[in-house]
Amino acid sequence: MSLVVMKFGGTSVGSAARMREVASIVASRSGEQRLVVVSAMAGVTNQLFEIADLAKRHETSRAREILQLMEDRHVATARELGLDTPEVLSTLRGILEGIERRVQGIDLLGELSARTMDEIASSGERMSSVLVAGLLGCPLLDARTVVRTDNHFGAARPRYQAIRKLAEQLLMPLLETSEIVVTQGYIGSDEAGDTTTLGRGGSDFSAGIFGAALQAREIEIWTDVEGIMTADPRIVSNARTVDVLSYEEVAELASYGAKVLHPATVRPAVEAGIPVTIRNTMKPDGNFTTISPGASSGRPCAALAMRRNVAILSVVQEAMTDQSGFLARLFEVFGRRGVSVDLVSTSEVCVSVSLDSSAPLDALVEDLHRLGRVSVASNRAVIAVVGDSLRQTPAVLRTAFSAIDGVCVDLISMGANAINLSFIVQEQAAEEVMRRLHAAFFEAA
Ligand code: ADP
Ligand code: ASP
Ligand code: MG
Repeated sequence: MSLVVMKFGGTSVGSAARMREVASIVASRSGEQRLVVVSAMAGVTNQLFEIADLAKRHETSRAREILQLMEDRHVATARELGLDTPEVLSTLRGILEGIERRVQGIDLLGELSARTMDEIASSGERMSSVLVAGLLGCPLLDARTVVRTDNHFGAARPRYQAIRKLAEQLLMPLLETSEIVVTQGYIGSDEAGDTTTLGRGGSDFSAGIFGAALQAREIEIWTDVEGIMTADPRIVSNARTVDVLSYEEVAELASYGAKVLHPATVRPAVEAGIPVTIRNTMKPDGNFTTISPGASSGRPCAALAMRRNVAILSVVQEAMTDQSGFLARLFEVFGRRGVSVDLVSTSEVCVSVSLDSSAPLDALVEDLHRLGRVSVASNRAVIAVVGDSLRQTPAVLRTAFSAIDGVCVDLISMGANAINLSFIVQEQAAEEVMRRLHAAFFEAA
């Protein structure tokens, strides 16, 4: 029997009504083994981060208020679904008490370790999965028993070989006896058995990891939009679904800010040659996107993506051309501080790099002073035009540049992989630039 991994995001499991829709979508795949991977109910992971932060600041009564709201929401959802059995309620209570205990500990020590944060952050998926498994009347697998990771808390990396073995031992037999199994996205555990998370938005990545370990026929990512669209529909109202994309196009769009898919999701899928589709839970028969081996949009611009919170660091050194090893010294500074650099542009006397603005900018500026005059431009956004045949279509440059005529552009880069043309602009101009580029590439008669 073939197997499909079906991942449902936060909005898709955000209420009892939505969970019922999930159940009917899962039922529609009858005749196949189905691993259902769920996110936390919408907003819950953000609340868990807020609770931990409040505890650190000793604002425990506010933390408890939010915890109470979270409990009320899960219990009310259980009740609406007819799942308010002593067993379900005590499982939910157990998870909530675990958070409560950790809030006390953080308050006492005034310290929040990344390990404790991951334990708290895992609670959302652990609670929602209890409800979805109850509704589907199927076994619930604790993802932490299968998704083995390193101990890089907050952004743990999967250990694929171990995961494959554990999936064979623990998950395959469950799928043999019950065609449907529910598990959590986002969470795993390290060698020592401590809970880890794969980073925000990591449930998509979990679906990729499970799909590869189980050699699934397909990985379905169910979300709140009709697939990957030509731009974020929250910014560009005319955005429309892109039917087919290559793995490279998707990875590029995701890493340039298209939140619809976690950037790491497609890697395990591509290595295992498994197609990924992105679908809308609210419109199960609507448009969707397919990413499969050998597929490509075939377009110079398949979609646009945008990422905010970008800063540009520039170093000017008139004597740069005479100094061999200047760039090596420059990048050594970033490497030492563990900062990943995004776009780079160099001229005779100046090097500019873009970074996420959460990078330790002051410390970097201090280090870089030894190399030349340093300046920082903050509040920037990077916008990427992504398409497999971008490089072979010189007209892309003309279309893009005329669309953004008059906009002050800080940095331009044509990715070495030839499928991405990016611009850095002031954050306040970014949405307007997106709309103009979208009009030029997708709305022109
Ligand atoms: P989920 O909780 O299902 O994982 P997310 O909120 O993480 O959902 O991702 C879906 C959201 O991604 C959409 O609501 C949309 O606003 C945003 N998004 C950003 N870029 C795109 C794009 N190119 N196509 C579709 N959605 C996008
Ligand atoms: N619940 C997690 C988050 O909000 C993971 C996910 O939804 O993908 O980041
Ligand atoms: Mg997501």
